[in-house]
Amino acid sequence: ADEVNIISGALELKKKTVEHIMTRLEDTFMLPLDGELDFETLNEIRKQGYSRIPIYDGERRNIVTILFTKDLMFVDPDDKIPLKTLAQFYNNPCYYVFSDTTLDIVFKEFKECNILKCHCFPTVKFTLKNVSAQKGHMAFVQKINTSCNERDPYCETTGLVTLEDVIEELIQAEIVDE
Ligand code: ADP
Repeated sequence: ADEVNIISGALELKKKTVEHIMTRLEDTFMLPLDGELDFETLNEIRKQGYSRIPIYDGERRNIVTILFTKDLMFVDPDDKIPLKTLAQFYNNPCYYVFSDTTLDIVFKEFKECNILKCHCFPTVKFTLKNVSAQKGHMAFVQKINTSCNERDPYCETTGLVTLEDVIEELIQAEIVDE
């Protein structure tokens, strides 16, 4: 029965899009670039328990980089290190997918670490073969927003998706995190 579920899950991947499974931006735990790693912030990071934290500049839609929780292990809360210092030091790139991308494609891209650096600006598009698997396994979901009359259609970040979200669809069950 498990095998049947995985096969039907695999077939379903073609029909579902990233938008169906993403974690919405409102539900994403992220931190502002102008913040600092004081005791409260570090405690919140620990409580939330995510391994990756998007960092935004100004407004939440404007994600500029991500930090890995493992890189914060030896941060001393008394130093109140500005997030900007660490963000610039690690300079981890963000990856993007369009919200209407089907899950079979996203799965393949994640597997191959091919999630493109930025779909919005084709000139900076490149594939990263050498990123560690973990780094390639979170992507921000983008949508073209055409609803604003005052400005031209623009790319808007609406959520995030990780490999785990796709695998969950594949095996058609919630993964209880270790
Ligand atoms: P983690 O390694 O942090 O447990 P996973 O890649 O295993 O993250 O994803 C687990 C779930 O948590 C997925 O549904 C993913 O979309 C979501 N997720 C990952 N990072 C965050 C975050 N910073 N804020 C909110 N949800 C997140």
